[in-house]
Amino acid sequence: MVIGGGPGGYVAAIRASQLGAKVILIEKDLIGGTCLNRGCIPMKALLSDAGLLRSLKRSPVFGSLFPEGLDLLQSMTDRKAKVVQEMVKGIEILLESYRVTIQYGEADLLGGTRVGLVKREGGREAIETDVIILAPGSKSKSIPNIHPDGERIITSDEALELGKIPHDIVIIGGGYIGAEFATLFSTLGSKVTIIEILEDILPGIDSEMVRNFQRVLEKEGVKILTRSSVEDLRQADEGLKLTVRTSQGIEEMAAEKLLVAAGRTPRLDLDFQKAGVEVSPSGIRVSRRMETSAPKIYAVGDAIGGILLAYVASEGGVVAAENAMGIDRKMEDFPIPICVFTHPGIASVGLTEKEARAKGEIRLGRFPFRSNPKAQVCGETDGLIKVIASRESDEILGIHIIGPGASDLISVAAMIVGQRGKAKEFTRLLQAHPTLPEALKEAVLDAEGLAIHLPRPLRRK
Ligand code: FAD
Repeated sequence: MVIGGGPGGYVAAIRASQLGAKVILIEKDLIGGTCLNRGCIPMKALLSDAGLLRSLKRSPVFGSLFPEGLDLLQSMTDRKAKVVQEMVKGIEILLESYRVTIQYGEADLLGGTRVGLVKREGGREAIETDVIILAPGSKSKSIPNIHPDGERIITSDEALELGKIPHDIVIIGGGYIGAEFATLFSTLGSKVTIIEILEDILPGIDSEMVRNFQRVLEKEGVKILTRSSVEDLRQADEGLKLTVRTSQGIEEMAAEKLLVAAGRTPRLDLDFQKAGVEVSPSGIRVSRRMETSAPKIYAVGDAIGGILLAYVASEGGVVAAENAMGIDRKMEDFPIPICVFTHPGIASVGLTEKEARAKGEIRLGRFPFRSNPKAQVCGETDGLIKVIASRESDEILGIHIIGPGASDLISVAAMIVGQRGKAKEFTRLLQAHPTLPEALKEAVLDAEGLAIHLPRPLRRK
């Protein structure tokens, strides 16, 4: 029995079925969960259209074809809805092909391995099962005294459905979700302000990448207020008035929309106590085999806290299903690649420069996309790749990318860092021409002081 049909739950269901289990998947809303319906997929569909628009507007050939004030958000939203619908249908067909029974309704724990189900079409049922995999996901974090009303004060759920470009939007939270919405609305022409309580936006990302990204956003008119918070919020005739405490003092501002993007928190509304499943405010407690404190009950995905990302949830789903079916599996501790689908995109794997310096002597390699032929032919030359290697062992410890193709390039980077690859070994591999991976090879070469397409004076260690 799997509770929750997001990327944690439905992947667990398929893997368990592949291993011979008879699986029931209970979902109270829509198959695909947050990721497919209100997260990754709708967000990236809108960002993909916005990216296209951005490239065309910046193009010396096509730029002049776009009049100011063009509002195509409704058409973008309609396209996004079609992508989502098609993908949800695809997952349902996939589950059917694996003979997974989907029950729509709300599940709860009744003790032992009994599950209560309140069916969507009415009626209740208690089901006895051999194993339960919990994957109930997460919800938007709330901020004291700021209550989303779905109209002027919104969460990411409503921000994906606006249909009309807001004149101005204030985003509370400069994490990856806030940064992606900032790119989206700024590209579409909104006046965007990010309010972030921490010292920097995009916590956890290498600070050189953050500085580069911040520079691009500010050049495009996005205002970024770090070490800042909303002190007071009032309704106005056409939107909201905000009093913001910034590092420079108090600032008053107006906004048509206020988007609360302060992160996500595990959804913990099942009766865990009844089943003896230990939870803390940061999530359901699990071992690296995804076992909870209760026998025969596993938990995966956003609900266990830690890194709240779809591919981490799915891998957890595979591990839980395999253990449930008698294969001994642990979550691996390979470094997790992180992508931010902004324009320019950011992607990161392994240690940041600050973390690597704390561990020992390092060598840095940098390669700017403006020196890469593929970036030049595409007219996408903003950004760079930075490689961090151990001075002692030559091992590549971290790779950080801002610029074109970042989220695809990071796959190769994750393999190098995950397999503790040495700089010298990677530089012997051929990369096709003209491609973006050539820039990755050059960045690794630069860590050795040997980049071919960097003039001597630009080399910095
Ligand atoms: P969910 O996807 O939340 O699924 C949980 C499911 O369980 C839901 O469908 C819910 O209805 C159901 N459920 C809950 N309780 C019950 C119950 N009692 N009975 C029955 N069903 C129940 N991640 C990425 O990797 N890449 C991205 O680019 C990315 N972008 C994002 C953008 C946004 C705007 C947001 C909000 C999130 C984004 N994420 C992204 C995060 C990603 O969506 C989540 O990490 C992922 O969906 C977690 O999967 P899950 O299966 O744990 O939970």
